Amino acid sequence: MAKHAGYCYGVQRALKMAREATERSSKPIHTLGPIIHNPQVVEALEQQGVNAVGSVDEVTAGTIIIRTHGVDPKIMDIATDKGLEVVDATCPFVAKAQDKAAKLIADGHDVIIVGERNHPEVAGLLACAANRAVVVENAQELAGLGDMETVGVVVQTTQSIENLRSVVDGLLNKTKELIVYNTICSATSQRQSAAAELAGSVDMMLVVGGKNSANTTRLNIICKEKNRRTHHIETADEIEVVWLEGVGNVGITAGASTPDWILKEVIDYLESG
Ligand code: SF4
Repeated sequence: MAKHAGYCYGVQRALKMAREATERSSKPIHTLGPIIHNPQVVEALEQQGVNAVGSVDEVTAGTIIIRTHGVDPKIMDIATDKGLEVVDATCPFVAKAQDKAAKLIADGHDVIIVGERNHPEVAGLLACAANRAVVVENAQELAGLGDMETVGVVVQTTQSIENLRSVVDGLLNKTKELIVYNTICSATSQRQSAAAELAGSVDMMLVVGGKNSANTTRLNIICKEKNRRTHHIETADEIEVVWLEGVGNVGITAGASTPDWILKEVIDYLESG
């Protein structure tokens, strides 16, 4: 098992906040989007009466939980104005990145956000930068940008340091002044380096976590670079017997939103021979 696999600080905190909300309130409880990118956990929460909604417009009463990815601060204002109880479970690492983005814009700088264009965390960062930042997913995308004066960079918390480094390298040729806030969270970088190290030393690697989870998908990419026999699974049921042919040992890592019980099922399956 790779070190730092499974639930991170931000996810544990958000789930605790959701649990506490169910304990203190008899009113409906909603999360704005799935609270974490793990379908099995979201389903278990639904059974406890916590339902995901796509928009604040769908909620008329009760509690709305803002997930770890954070949101446009205006959305929280709308929810409060509607009389909803807002539980802000934005991860403190994400909140820090949002603050940096807002500060860079307030200081009058151009802002680049390194991250996945369609990821909700990036949408929140963009909103905090008054929707005036440019999002780039990788260094290749800098080709479309002209030369700039002073540029500030913030990065989606689950990006890899290599991707940030290559974007910063590219920007050095295009800017007079560059301010870089490395807002990758420490849980992500520790998880990624431990997973890469393990993947390079085992016959086969399993990356366990939601297929809709950005940090798990990135872990899969990182492990595949070290070990071609890497598979991304959500549950033990997806393990194919053919994958195990000629395999003496298996490394396992898991995304930030993968619960221990899913990891245990994977380990039990592998150990059962
Ligand atoms: S991966 Fe990092 S930023 Fe995201 S929720 Fe976990 S601790 Fe927070």
